[in-house]
Amino acid sequence: MSSKNLYGLPSLQIGNLTTAEQNAITIDLGLDEATLDKYPKLIYAQAKLHKNKANSTSSCCSICLADYKDTDVLRDLPDCGHLFHLECVDSWLKLHATCPVCRNSPLAKPVPLEVSH
Ligand SMILES: [Zn+2]
Ligand SMILES: [Zn+2]
Repeated sequence: MSSKNLYGLPSLQIGNLTTAEQNAITIDLGLDEATLDKYPKLIYAQAKLHKNKANSTSSCCSICLADYKDTDVLRDLPDCGHLFHLECVDSWLKLHATCPVCRNSPLAKPVPLEVSH
């Protein structure tokens, strides 16, 4: 028995939403666990090595203001590269889909639509 859905497409996922749909989600809601899970995380000891060139690694978390320990797990926001404690930024991002420091959204930037008048 062969089953085909109407459009011959695999089942749709969040990533296939249109820009408008993503916008609607981004504006009102924070990120969900599944989205957060896709963002890179790393140990502070690694972050120091990895980010050394840019010299952009701060030594403390901008959310809880505690100094990082080498063994702390950090979240590396994909858009702006800011680092925070994984726990701190995950709770933040569940409420606000923006970086607490620079307000960039770690979500893919919506491409502005050409509107013809
Ligand atoms: Zn923190
Ligand atoms: Zn940022």
